[in-house]
Amino acid sequence: MELPFAESWKIKMIEPIRKSTRQEREQWMKEAHYNVFQLSADRVYIDLLTDSGTGAMSDRQWAAMMVGDESYAGASSFYQMKDAVTRITGFEYVLPTHQGRGAENVLFSCLIKEGDICPGNSHFDTTKGHIEMRKAFAVDCTIDEAKNTQLEIPFKGNVDINKLEAVLKKDGDRVPFIIMTCTNNTSGGQPVSMRNLRETKALADKYGKKVIIDSARFAENAYFIKTREEGYADKSIKEICREMFSYAHCMTMSAKKDAIVNMGGFIATNVQEWYDAAKVKNIIFEGYITYGGMSGRDMNALAVGLDENTEFENLETRIKQVEYLGKKLDEYGIPYQRPTGGHAIFVDAPKVLTHVPKEQFPAQTLAVELYLEAGIRGCEIGYLLADRDPITRQNRFNGLDLLRLAIPRRVYTNNHMDVIAAALKNVFDRRESITKGMEIEWEAELMRHFTVKLKRAE
Ligand SMILES: *Cc1c(COP(=O)(O)O)cnc(C)c1O
Repeated sequence: MELPFAESWKIKMIEPIRKSTRQEREQWMKEAHYNVFQLSADRVYIDLLTDSGTGAMSDRQWAAMMVGDESYAGASSFYQMKDAVTRITGFEYVLPTHQGRGAENVLFSCLIKEGDICPGNSHFDTTKGHIEMRKAFAVDCTIDEAKNTQLEIPFKGNVDINKLEAVLKKDGDRVPFIIMTCTNNTSGGQPVSMRNLRETKALADKYGKKVIIDSARFAENAYFIKTREEGYADKSIKEICREMFSYAHCMTMSAKKDAIVNMGGFIATNVQEWYDAAKVKNIIFEGYITYGGMSGRDMNALAVGLDENTEFENLETRIKQVEYLGKKLDEYGIPYQRPTGGHAIFVDAPKVLTHVPKEQFPAQTLAVELYLEAGIRGCEIGYLLADRDPITRQNRFNGLDLLRLAIPRRVYTNNHMDVIAAALKNVFDRRESITKGMEIEWEAELMRHFTVKLKRAE
């Protein structure tokens, strides 16, 4: 018989996790003001808050940490990291930063001014935050199909070339760059096709603009190109990555995702003016240009992580686990953003909690219910995260309202996936009885979801 699929690694170190009672969780959730970010992690059984910095490093990464070079300037660890980045992306200039948003802060400080327009596919929340805090505008040109969670198409992260061109035509002089997020986190961890990247680059060239790839999950994106796009089945992940980045001028990277480190990030580019400008900002905000907020040992681990996670087997193990959870939800009829994306399942909350009005944040309500059910922590990627419109200050209800179950890399087994699916099914089975959602008691002006205080709606 054909052998079943199994992980491409085995486990060498473990960390105990703890269950709790429903009564404990009721109390803890209340103390956390119904905001899962405010829960202490030891009160969580299975933590799906994020796949950012939560991955398990390999023995090779740990070994590399032991030989980190902690010199202030010119550490060999920097060169290890730079060489790995250049080999995989083709970008010559590399600036380390403490994490992805550090890279955004440094780069955008050089490129964005008040009133600018930054179009692309859906912007990640920190990216949007860094654009809007500079009084500029993040214009989401993702294809309309991405909003239909039940539509099964291979590249739901794509940008709509016509929408993008309309922005460039009308306001081209206000556009400092086009930003492509691969994979498209906000629309459900959905990939961008090579063809779409190629067409975006051609359009950018036509209007004399540059393209930045927000690259947190570029390797997962490459996996989907290999497995879903015609002409790429026989190419290696590393070859696909090189081609993806050949359609961009610059990348910002949160290494906490696809480089499988707990902390780190970088900017990489071939545009010397951008690099020269960013160097100055990097020194002010992050640290000297050969460490930028990272330890030598962390840069070493990053170099190894990038190399490992641009190998097919590692990506296949990960993405098949996400798919496994998706198939369980299919069995139970629970609606999520289809097809399953790279790093997470995004449950379509308004389709589950049909009695909770949008003003009461269905996805946040579902996050609370799932935690109360089994101590599983997911994360709202929806109306709370969308913040208010910077001008009208109205809630933005025009996007999706999703409960994201992000799967940390190489951390949980498929038994944990079974528990997650069963817990969600239990909530799903009593969905008709959930008629009240959440109300905001206090919120910050920007990126409110991290600190918002909520209460149960009356
Ligand atoms: C995580 C992430 C960022 C921000 O990176 P941090 O390391 O969390 O600061 C930016 N863009 C995307 C697409 C991300 O997933």
